[in-house]
Amino acid sequence: MVFSEEESTINFLIATGNAHKKKEFERILSPLGITIMTPKEAGIEFPDVEETGTTFEENAIIKAECGCKISGMPTLSDDSGLCVDALNGAPGIYSARYSSDTDENADDISNNNKLLKELSDTPLEKRTAYYVCAVACVFPDGRKLVVRGECHGKIGFEPKGNGGFGYDPLFIVGDGDKTFGELSPEEKDSQSHRSVALHKMYEILKSEGNS
Ligand code: IMP
Repeated sequence: MVFSEEESTINFLIATGNAHKKKEFERILSPLGITIMTPKEAGIEFPDVEETGTTFEENAIIKAECGCKISGMPTLSDDSGLCVDALNGAPGIYSARYSSDTDENADDISNNNKLLKELSDTPLEKRTAYYVCAVACVFPDGRKLVVRGECHGKIGFEPKGNGGFGYDPLFIVGDGDKTFGELSPEEKDSQSHRSVALHKMYEILKSEGNS
């Protein structure tokens, strides 16, 4: 099967209930001719998958395998997070539940507040950090692919901007002075960890004729 720029030839399930991730997947993948469906759109009850992996890549595969098994569809997943150098890579794979022990009890505001508190004595030059996004793709025949995208920057001293989600209002991109929260969706997509990973995955799928 071949991807065309105009017409999608394959539908992927996206193994996430995170509306922000789905929106970013759609923005990045639809111009590439790839359409995605959430479990809800596919009429599937997606369970709370236990992320038992020790890396972003392992957790992305766990989620994609689960989605593929339940739906019988080729399934894409995203496991992502923020790694802060001064915190030895934390929150890392625990980014969603940084301020609590479960995803449900942690929200973006409490996670961002905890991050600011942990870095309260850290000067700007030592606040370097990077986002990681591992994207996995699992096919019903058992084939598995996984790629990683990164986006480097630093953590600001206060939240800025209302765009994006999660840690975006604190994440100052590259060597600039704007947070992801202050950028337009298109500006975020042009350099985000998710975009880097999805473009890598697209190139692999295309080179294999999807398959
Ligand atoms: P996951 O759902 O287990 O992959 O956790 C992802 C978590 O990492 C999110 O809840 C956010 O806290 C953080 N994260 C990942 N990607 C982004 C991003 O693009 N912007 C802001 N936060 C992100």
